[in-house]
Amino acid sequence: MLSVSDARTRILATFTPVETVTLPIDDLAGRVLAVDVDATTDFPPFDNSSVDGFAVKISDAVAATSDSPRTLNVIDDIRAGTYSTTPIRPGQCARIMTGAPLPPGAEAVVMVEDTDFKVRFSESIAPKTVTVFQSVRPGENVRQRGDDLHEGDLVMLSGRRLGAREIGLLAMLGFPEMLVYRRPRVALLSSGDELLPVGAELTSGKIHDANSYMLAALLESSGVELIRLGVASDTEADVRSRLERAVQEKADLIISSAGVSMGAFDYIKAVVESDGGLDFWKVNMRPGKPLAFGKFHGIPFFGLPGNPVSAFVGFEVFVRPALEKLSGQAFHPRPTQTARLAEPVESDGRETYLRVIVNEENGQLTARLTGHQGSGNLLSLVQGNALLILPSGVKSLPASSEVQIWSLE
Ligand code: AMP
Ligand code: MG
Repeated sequence: MLSVSDARTRILATFTPVETVTLPIDDLAGRVLAVDVDATTDFPPFDNSSVDGFAVKISDAVAATSDSPRTLNVIDDIRAGTYSTTPIRPGQCARIMTGAPLPPGAEAVVMVEDTDFKVRFSESIAPKTVTVFQSVRPGENVRQRGDDLHEGDLVMLSGRRLGAREIGLLAMLGFPEMLVYRRPRVALLSSGDELLPVGAELTSGKIHDANSYMLAALLESSGVELIRLGVASDTEADVRSRLERAVQEKADLIISSAGVSMGAFDYIKAVVESDGGLDFWKVNMRPGKPLAFGKFHGIPFFGLPGNPVSAFVGFEVFVRPALEKLSGQAFHPRPTQTARLAEPVESDGRETYLRVIVNEENGQLTARLTGHQGSGNLLSLVQGNALLILPSGVKSLPASSEVQIWSLE
């Protein structure tokens, strides 16, 4: 049987990133960078004050204390957004606001709190003289040009997903637009005659379609454009017409759940194979052993299991990394954390994903199973906050063993 990591490697090998587009900075949230970004300026772009205070020469302020204060003439008033070309000479200083450029000749800034100038209301006029009660070191309260980064520095690599921090940095460097990958178009299908949409009253033999909503939520938070193919009934014609819509809508990926096992009415396999190819893999994992992967009209296709927990685990283990590659993201294995088991656990030797709640107890992470671990028990996923990964070959572990977990938060 194929190992999880071999299956993932095979899947990833079939994906390449989608095309790129240039977007305005206002539309970059969640997008994936398609170029390396170099700084276009030094930052800060000029020496500036990190406090509201008075820009001084060191010779005047080095020995100032509350017992031997220094009184200086205030020759200038420098607001943020302005600059001064008048040099500061011994015995002089300039009032300066946070972020304003240091005037020529100034070597440090004394905080207004360390002077006798106590006026706090806005639009206050600078005093004629100021008395300094506190010494400063050269460069104190000054942010030097290029302190943070230098022009030409490589600040972000292609493949990085842009969040608030990255967008802030791009704005700081003055990029009005950026080359990113377009969003992958992902078509999502559920299948089964027993499925009713949410809102419909349950009648005998029917259940609500949980997978469409759960997988849509996973996909939308992954930054894709979703094509909803709805629920196919268990007929070849309906499965075919819905999958063909994915082709018309130029999907980059098709994901279905259910209808790919041994049931007498599982038509997805037949339809996908008629216009593409489907590999059935028995992956050495639990839940989610049967995994269908292939192509329909050249579009990569995942057939996830129907049971909701299996579909969720299959998404996290196989679809998420594939989507990351498709969307242009740089590969990074999902981070694991080490936790200690609060109770013994058992499995059958396959790589097993158990639903656990992980809490910090006595300074270390402790993992407890959340109830029923059957592949249809979605409640156990909701009660948990992590998946515990038992490696293949492990059939049982006693309480207190160290285990690896994937956080779901
Ligand atoms: P199948 O692979 O079609 O045999 O489905 C396996 C199990 O998953 C069955 O119990 C189905 O009723 C259930 N199932 C399939 N699709 C969904 C869905 N969209 N939401 C909730 N349960 C589902
Ligand atoms: Mg079915």
